[in-house]
Amino acid sequence: MANSGMDYQLQGLNSLRITPLDDDEEDQDEPQEIEIDEDEEEDDDEEGVTLGFAEKPKNPRSVLRHLFPSKAGGVPAWLDPVDLPPESSRTCGFCGDPLQFLLQIYAPISEKESTFHRTLFVFMCPSMACLLRDQHEQWKHGEEKLRRSVKVFRCQLPRSNHFYSSEPPKHDGTDKPLSTGAVLCSWCGTWKGEKVCSSCRKARYCSEKHQAMHWRSGHKNDCRQIIISSQSSGPGHGNSGEKLAALEKVACRTLWCEYEILIEEECIYDSNMSEDNGLGTSIVPANNKTDESFQSLLDKFEANDDKKKWASFQERIARAPEQVLRYCRDLMAKPLWPLLIGRPSKADIPKCNYCKGPLCYEFQIMPQLLYYFDVKNDPDSLDWATVVVFTCQASCEASIAYKEEFAWVQLYPSAGTL
Ligand SMILES: [Zn+2]
Ligand SMILES: [Zn+2]
Ligand SMILES: [Zn+2]
Ligand SMILES: [Zn+2]
Repeated sequence: MANSGMDYQLQGLNSLRITPLDDDEEDQDEPQEIEIDEDEEEDDDEEGVTLGFAEKPKNPRSVLRHLFPSKAGGVPAWLDPVDLPPESSRTCGFCGDPLQFLLQIYAPISEKESTFHRTLFVFMCPSMACLLRDQHEQWKHGEEKLRRSVKVFRCQLPRSNHFYSSEPPKHDGTDKPLSTGAVLCSWCGTWKGEKVCSSCRKARYCSEKHQAMHWRSGHKNDCRQIIISSQSSGPGHGNSGEKLAALEKVACRTLWCEYEILIEEECIYDSNMSEDNGLGTSIVPANNKTDESFQSLLDKFEANDDKKKWASFQERIARAPEQVLRYCRDLMAKPLWPLLIGRPSKADIPKCNYCKGPLCYEFQIMPQLLYYFDVKNDPDSLDWATVVVFTCQASCEASIAYKEEFAWVQLYPSAGTL
């Protein structure tokens, strides 16, 4: 069957809007550069933005890796399930803890064979103190930008690969991946479980920290039962089978809650629809809470320019106030900055780590996601105005499966003045 790549996207996510990499306007001077002009007002580009909304998965299967989901919270659905990011790139650059999964979006680029499947993953340290330290790092230039508390990975596969059928999923419950993935950490379920519990030799961990947390939260007892039952053959030894099965599940209770990310074009929300955003399935009354905090933030802005910027940002967001993500992979696309301060200049965006080509804006994460994650409104809780993700314009190939891209975090002016 000659299914085109489009079938995946239509059946999956209704396709994220992708613009061809080669620009039509050949007479442009610098088609390779992204424009981030400090003074320029965002032109009110009404088209081309795709919005992401968080919804509880109706079917837990729908967020499994062989269905190529876009999702937030819970554990990642690794696209390449084997060659996962190594320890050196999966920890917070400040506290050293393993990073927590924030979200992933399935964003294939159909023009290229190597990007037939393509997913971007965002991880973050849940500590606001680390994010504040990260703020200083993101302004640094060159090789120093290695210590981050926010990390983005890009993974891509050709249509024909070891892990998935080359036919699109049927979504009828019969879809299966072609092979199993790496064994994951028994605590976080996120990262590769490279370390083994030296007593039971069954539990696996990404880090000593997660081993210690699992031990304290109950593995101390479970471990003993697993050892006893493995020493005596034959049935009848308590619930060790149960204990073993439990190792397959994620033990950690502090992952962010899991959502599926559903996609809609922004243009379907005209400005009169802000009351009823047309989805009709909203599960979290994010409005009231955000309005309140937006107002209190507004009071904190000193400069009129910031108030103006904030107001125009709010106006744009108000069309679909529950959006958690804005996506537009177009050379001309710009992020919607909530604030004037804390925006990067062109020079602040590094080159691709692998091909040394330019990075371009691809998507941004809205603070609404934190309400879905039930992050408290305390001064030391995680908070951001927006997280903007820049990715390799060429979506290049490299010898590693998970290529690190770049995130820029804009914080509210009140952050860090605790
Ligand atoms: Zn940290
Ligand atoms: Zn772990
Ligand atoms: Zn053990
Ligand atoms: Zn590149």
